[in-house]
Amino acid sequence: TYVVTDACIRCKYTDCVEVCPVDCFYEGENMLVINPSECIDCGVCEPECPAEAILPDTESDVEKWLEVNTKYSAEW
Ligand code: SF4
Repeated sequence: TYVVTDACIRCKYTDCVEVCPVDCFYEGENMLVINPSECIDCGVCEPECPAEAILPDTESDVEKWLEVNTKYSAEW
């Protein structure tokens, strides 16, 4: 799965949402999040993010953000 990280906080761009083929972006408290169980790992959103906030979960140090993405996307 891909994960939205802290660079997204208070970002107002939604380019990622528009390109996602499975609509798996959701609104968190002050950032967007990706639902890890819906993301198909296509990677299309990563280069679209102007804040470079989207990373694959294979990157180091994204565990915390994976939890945040899971938590906020589950509330919908
Ligand atoms: Fe959507 Fe693909 Fe990005 Fe996953 S990697 S959030 S499916 S655009």
